[in-house]
This record gives sequence, C-alpha cells and structure tokens, in this order.
Amino acid sequence: MQRTDVDKPDYYHQVVDCQWACPAHTNVPEYIRLIAQGRFDDSYMLNRESNVFPGILGRTCDRPCEPACRRVRVEGKPVAICRLKRVAADNKSDIRNRLPKAPKKKNGKKIALIGAGPASLTVANDLIPLGYDVTLFEALPLPGGLMRINIPAFRLPAEVLDEEIAYIIDMGVKVLYDTPIKSLKKLLDSKEFDAVFVGTGAPKGRELDIPGRHDSDQVFIGIEWLESIHFEHVDSVGERVLIIGVGNTAMDCCRSAKRLGAKDVKVVARKTRKYFKASPWELEDAEEEHVEILENLSPVQFVLENSTLVGMEFEKFTSVEIDGKLVQEPAGHVVIPCDTVIVAIGQENAFPWIERDIGIEFNKWDMPEVDETTFMYTREGVFSGGDAAFGPKNIIWAVEHGHQAAISIHNYCNGKSVDDRLPQGQTLSSTSMGLHEWSYSNDYDPAKRQKMTHIEMPERFLKMTIEVEEGFTMEQAKVEVERCMNCDIQTHFTESLCIECDACIDVCPTDCLTITNNGDETDLRSRLIAPADVHDQPLFVSGALKQTGRVMVKDENICLHCGLCADRCPTHAFDMRKSILQLPYAGQPVPEKTLPAAEPAPAK
Ligand code: SF4
Ligand code: SF4
Repeated sequence: MQRTDVDKPDYYHQVVDCQWACPAHTNVPEYIRLIAQGRFDDSYMLNRESNVFPGILGRTCDRPCEPACRRVRVEGKPVAICRLKRVAADNKSDIRNRLPKAPKKKNGKKIALIGAGPASLTVANDLIPLGYDVTLFEALPLPGGLMRINIPAFRLPAEVLDEEIAYIIDMGVKVLYDTPIKSLKKLLDSKEFDAVFVGTGAPKGRELDIPGRHDSDQVFIGIEWLESIHFEHVDSVGERVLIIGVGNTAMDCCRSAKRLGAKDVKVVARKTRKYFKASPWELEDAEEEHVEILENLSPVQFVLENSTLVGMEFEKFTSVEIDGKLVQEPAGHVVIPCDTVIVAIGQENAFPWIERDIGIEFNKWDMPEVDETTFMYTREGVFSGGDAAFGPKNIIWAVEHGHQAAISIHNYCNGKSVDDRLPQGQTLSSTSMGLHEWSYSNDYDPAKRQKMTHIEMPERFLKMTIEVEEGFTMEQAKVEVERCMNCDIQTHFTESLCIECDACIDVCPTDCLTITNNGDETDLRSRLIAPADVHDQPLFVSGALKQTGRVMVKDENICLHCGLCADRCPTHAFDMRKSILQLPYAGQPVPEKTLPAAEPAPAK
C-alpha cells in the first residue's frame, strides 16, 4: 500500500468517526472535552460554528454521528453526543457578546432569503458578519419554518427556538413576516437583490388518495395537522386515532394525539420495524406513551357510516426476510375502528410560485435543478438549500446546505466562480505534557451510556408544551463525557524515529498495530495481528522503516486512542497529537499554512 498521507485533512478526519458522519462536521470530541472541563460557553460556541443551533439540535437532531461513534464498536452503545450538545446549551451563560456581529459598514450587496427555516437562517448567520444586507421573507407570522410548526413543543420548547433564532435575526436581518413570495419572477425582475436564496422547506404533506379520503372531516395530513395544533386551530381529536406512516412526523403526530386527549392511538406501518423511517429513540418514546405500532398493513379505504368515519380497512401481509430483502405476501383484510386518521406518509416540495420560464430548469420530479456543490439553480444568482433543494432531510443537513450556499453567494457577489470551493485544513499539535502525561483524559472508562430521564407520565400530558426530556443532570454529564474516546487525538507516527523494538505492539490493548512487510490492501489486512475486516475503516501504513524496510500498519477500526503506544515508545516515534479539522466558511478561508504534520513532538 502507499504510505498514508496524514497531511491530507481527510485522513485524520475520517478517524474521528462522529465528526466524519456529521453533515456539518461538528468538532464533537473537542466540545465534549470542553463540557468535561465545565467550559459550557466555549463548548456551545464551538458547536455553533458548524451547526449554528446547538440547543435545537441537542434535542432534535437525527444524530447520524451516533451510529458511527467508535464507542459502538468497542462496547455497543454510542456516546450520547446529541444530548451532550444540549448540556452545553442548557448550562451556558449569556454568550451574546461572543456572537458574530454585522460590521458598521455594509458591503452594498443585498440578499433575499425566502423562508425562515434553518437553511435560510444559516445563510443569514454567515453573510451578515460580512456586511451583507439580508432580507428574509416568511409566509408565517413567526420564524423557524418546519422546526417550529412541525416539531411539537414537547420535544422542542419555543424558548429554545426563539433564543437561537434571535441570535441570528438580532445581527440585523430585516424580516418580513406574513409575506409569502408568490412570484419568483417578480422578485427577480425587481432587481432589488444581488442574490436570492430559496429555503422554503418541503411544506406539502403527501396525499393518500384511496376511497373515502375526502368524505370525512376527520382525516388530516400530518404536517398540516401539526401546524394547526401549533397555531391552536386544533385542540381536540377523536378517542381512537390511527396514524398512517411510520416516520418521525408520524411519531410527532401520535404523541400529539395523546396530548389532545386520544385514548387509543395506533401507528400503522406497511412494512416491518427494520424498515421504519422513524429514529429508534422516537419509536421508543412513542411506545413509552402507550402508542401501539402495527406492522404489515396497507391502507385500502376509509370506512364511513352515515358520513361519520368509523374505521379504516387495510390489506394484511405476512413478511419474511429472504437474502436480506423483505418479501410480503397478502394475508386478507382487516378493518380497524377509529374516529380520526392522520396521514403522515411523507412530504413533498411545491413550487407553484416559481415560474417555468425564468431560466430555472425543473427535473423529472418537478423540482428545480440544484447543483449539489454550489447549491445554485440553473439561473445564476438564485440558490437553494435544505428540504427545498433535495427533499426532506434533517435540520443538520439544512444547516450544512446553508453554509455551502453562503460560500457560493459570497463568491457570486464578489465576481468569483461559485465553483471556487476552498479546501479544508488541519492542524496537529502534540498533547504531550511530560513523561506519561497527556493533556487529555486517556483512561478507557467502561461506564454505560446514560439514560435520559423523562417527565412523569400523567404530568407530561397536561399540556402540549411540557418538554418530556429533562436533559442530563450534571452527574450524568460527568459520566457521559468520559465515555468519549477522543478520536481526534491521533497516534501520529514518525517513521524515521522508529527502531522496530515492538514495544508499542506489545502494549496495545486491542492489537491494532503490526510491523510487517508491505503488500496490497487485501493481503495486508489478512496479515495483521488482529483481523482487520471492517473495510470502511482505514489502514494507516507508514513508509519503509529504516532497519528492515518493513512498515508500521495500524487498523484504525478499533484503536482506543489510549496513548499507551506513545507512552511506551522509547524514541517518540508515536506521539498523541490533536488533529483539528478547519472548515472554510463564507469569507473565512482556513489559514493557508497548517502546522506540519511530520514535525516530531518534543523529546521525552
Ligand atoms: S468516541 Fe468520542 S470522538 Fe470517538 S466517535 Fe464517539 S463521540 Fe466521537
Ligand atoms: S492508542 Fe495506541 S495503544 Fe491505544 S489502542 Fe490505539 S494504537 Fe493501541
């Protein structure tokens, strides 16, 4: 194999599994260490750089980082990364004087943002400090988009939303509420703005056009129903409620139905649990509230008696897994009695307000074409991100789209190509503090993942706005932070210093180091001390060692980042170095020079 080039930011970045999996590449291990030191403000601000909404995401993120967490491979359960984000947000002091600010002198460029959801707010967050004049058009009387109207307050309190959105709006965004844009052509023709960003989300719930759908006033579309609850247009529901669909919106609907007084709430799924779209923790929370989840049922028709909804007919299936595929066979029909049905089978985009003759191409799904790197439409100067661009995803994706679109808008307004993407950077610094002492906590802590406590059952149903999750106590946070294995503290190897004494190999508790003859990847993987059969985890391969020409190979998969190899190494060939990934944001390129990766640490 080729010598691993650790100067390329991607190499060490992919070893920090959580950060690699996070769409916004949040520096998770560093913010966890800051919490461990009680530096909640610093932790919050570090979080905010990349994900902009730590308090909101600490409650609602889909957590793609957690299944990737190294801790899963070591003891099964990931670090509670998301909940620790909330710890920083809940315990910070007033950080307003640390927020980015608009400069006194504007740069003369005007930007229109359409829709006040997370993508547009991120664009505003990144552009206002560069002197842009930002106007936000919002159809509703409040900002937040789907974060506000589709996520119930028992999961995301309004105060948390208000606070983090105000951090951005108070920088100087001109917000026009109750102002839907009805014609993009008109807005563009006005030539009032130098660039336009479309962040209108995916506001249309998918229909279920089966017999009886429009014969009852007790059949609702999930996201519209949640919006009506939010604006208090709906404050009651039938006793027996069926929710059709099993994504996160369905979970929010079933739990909202409970709070509106429903006695019997069932969620109905076409497939088996393995195929559910809802996050596992959302399913658990719904089941804790005695929501019943039924599998293998496909809706056939609404059943009405004297114009009153009394049930729903389903086709039943049997399901088996054959060669990893779900095979379903029809198994008759069933009618489930109900008084209300909520249809939550997905969301769609709708762009009746974007004319088809203004240079914006639409694809076969009738969605505007958006470049996946620049986030620009086929018409120059018009950008999009979040659910409006590529369909429903999580908030954290919308944030990352917003950052990338802001880079493009800044380029565009400065006459640069929108394709001009700045590279990521990396710094490396030794964590050595002397003999056997490192500036991070390197002991492996066998503590189990902390369990989130919930408000007691009767109390949580009293009001729609009672937050169910109580947040970690300080004791829980203290335990949880120690579960993080500091994957950003890298086993940095300087081959010219290695005397091939095997001391590191002897001491490594997971046998992830081997000195051997080089070979191709399949061959090398088969010759390592411990089997290296997880192919999406990289192998580190050094250059030829001085004495024998063999190479040092490390399977990054199961390294505990414990530093014992570096502790034991008599020549300091191994050093534990903190890698910091530097992300470029609009108007903030990473420093041109990063610290040299090959620089040896101070001698012991
Ligand atoms: S152990 Fe810590 S640094 Fe490593 S992946 Fe998990 S949270 Fe991230
Ligand atoms: S830090 Fe070194 S000793 Fe510890 S698990 Fe990783 S390679 Fe092995």
